[in-house]
Amino acid sequence: MNGGQDERKLSIKLFNVNLSCTNAANLPDAVWLEIILKSNPLELLTFQKLSKRFRIILRDNPHCWVTARHNMHPPVPPPPQVNAAGVWTEAAYAQFIFGGGECAAKSCKRWTQRFPRSFALRIRVCSTKCEAIIHRHYDKSDRKINNSYLTSCAIPGKRGLRQMGQTQRLHFRNWLVYDERDMTSKHTYILLSVSSLIGGSEYPMYRVCAVSTADQEWFSARAITENRKARPPVAVIRTVPQLQNQYKLRAEALPHIMENAKALQQWAADHEEARTAMTLTNVAFMKEVVSPREQIPYRKLLKTPIVIKTLESFGRTLSKFDIRTWCAMRATAIREYRDPR
Ligand SMILES: [Zn+2]
Repeated sequence: MNGGQDERKLSIKLFNVNLSCTNAANLPDAVWLEIILKSNPLELLTFQKLSKRFRIILRDNPHCWVTARHNMHPPVPPPPQVNAAGVWTEAAYAQFIFGGGECAAKSCKRWTQRFPRSFALRIRVCSTKCEAIIHRHYDKSDRKINNSYLTSCAIPGKRGLRQMGQTQRLHFRNWLVYDERDMTSKHTYILLSVSSLIGGSEYPMYRVCAVSTADQEWFSARAITENRKARPPVAVIRTVPQLQNQYKLRAEALPHIMENAKALQQWAADHEEARTAMTLTNVAFMKEVVSPREQIPYRKLLKTPIVIKTLESFGRTLSKFDIRTWCAMRATAIREYRDPR
């Protein structure tokens, strides 16, 4: 009967909701900056994607990224100070660690939010199955590997010198980033101290695509210097002297990059530990506080999609459940519990 009136009431109600949203958008930049300064890198990346306005705030306040790194527990180690070409800004660094990326397995290529498996080689895998693909032909005893992703053999020692076209690869030894952890053990990893890394262990592993990019760069530089038309495609066009200069800068950067990779690897392990502990605390909260109040077995609650999702995101940012968290998801969780699909 009074459908029209109800509709108007509803629209007024919606309008009110809209109004408060508009107010939030009308907050001055200084207030948003305060909020941003309390955020973690993952949240900053989300802010950056939200709107041009946030991108400008972040661009004008680059220290936000540093603060965000320190807002993590444990704090994220700082990016390496590097003179060689490449993107090493705080924003790109946050994107590299927290932004996710494609799984390295060619048959998969699924997007994954996981941290890189190797920070030095910038390799990410989405699952243990894909990890097994990356580790094929890994010889555990002498830690040697050679498959289409990782290789310990592509940069020759003195013996390789005899092979045509291999001589130039000796340059790469000075600057190409490598990893020599035991890739098949999950938590323990062996990374020698940085000084001994530079001396070179027997079989450091390199990323195959990095070796081939370095090859192409070298052949392209030779073609340009020798005025040959045909040359492989490269990201930056350089002559041989320019490239050799770049090699020198990269060689200087290598110890910093390796040190950073090592710090990140340690940080990721610590973070994983803290995350597991936080998830256990949150599960205990569901069991001891929520379950008796709601008279629902906590295992059933833990299986509802909303709780799974919230547990995961709270784990990632190391946040603790409280009554407010439960109130925010209660309606959805109980509906999902009663009507599982
Ligand atoms: Zn995968």
